[in-house]
Amino acid sequence: MESNTRMLNVKMLSKKFITTIENYLINNMFPHSLIIASNSDEINYQSAIYLTCRLICEDVIWCEGKCNNCQRVISNSYPDFVILNLCSEKLKKEMVREIISKFSLSSLEVTNKKIYLIQNIEDGSLEANNSLLKFLEEPPINTYAIFTSKSINRVLPTIISRSQVLTLLPIDFEIVMTKLINEWKVTFEDAKLISNCFSDWNEIVANGDYAKFLEIKLLALDFITNFINDNNEDNYLLSSKINKLEKNYLSLFWKLIILIMKDSFLELPQYFITQQKFIKEVTDKIANKQNYFLTVIYECLERLKFPVNKNLLVDYFIIMMLKI
Ligand SMILES: [Zn+2]
Repeated sequence: MESNTRMLNVKMLSKKFITTIENYLINNMFPHSLIIASNSDEINYQSAIYLTCRLICEDVIWCEGKCNNCQRVISNSYPDFVILNLCSEKLKKEMVREIISKFSLSSLEVTNKKIYLIQNIEDGSLEANNSLLKFLEEPPINTYAIFTSKSINRVLPTIISRSQVLTLLPIDFEIVMTKLINEWKVTFEDAKLISNCFSDWNEIVANGDYAKFLEIKLLALDFITNFINDNNEDNYLLSSKINKLEKNYLSLFWKLIILIMKDSFLELPQYFITQQKFIKEVTDKIANKQNYFLTVIYECLERLKFPVNKNLLVDYFIIMMLKI
């Protein structure tokens, strides 16, 4: 993972994002605080590194990441660039204090710009975020804050209001869907479902094949069908199948259930487009409990990211579902 992220992959960035950054630079209006939001860690990271390079590049025309400054940012050895990832470490007040004191000293570099990148800002504690806020209110000259977030809804509103938010599309849906239809020979509905469950083509390929996807899809549909027909016993039986899934497939299983729930809010399904009748039954049965459902599944997905006893987590999921 670490070695992967020590590269700049401009191909992952959206054209719209690059144009926005270029406009900031041309007009000399680079925001002092910026939030990059998409549901992909890798896209967020790549976008943040690109941004930083553009800020401190030695060349008048963008060097494509080749100049000495850009190279040092990419390899994370540029002294005036600090990265914190709140997914792996909790943001503590002391860390913020450290950044503030470091950034209040004069720059170590001729570009004179100091940049801190805080990944997954939504995971910061309230206390830490508040001390960060004071810094954001009066940023020292030539200091830039870049935040990334995978769920912008959870970012403190006071941080959002002091920042420019760039929301990135996590995936080029059209390209990925065409690829799935042409290369994997999947149906239009399945292309839609698959592209909504993963953040890019590489992630799709790394997670198995069409047959495996269909197996998980069937499992998700069976589970919800049992649920709406009150066949809880059958879902207990299914739980052993669910328990046997590897982590990535378990995550796919839950993501598909999320899409079923999202469809059940709508007049016409967006994802399970051929299963209008089924979705209607879900809507009728679940009747306004979608949010409860979604909360439980998001929580399970979140826990799955950490070392966890998979069987206990599946049991927890099923027990929570039975409570509805
Ligand atoms: Zn450069």
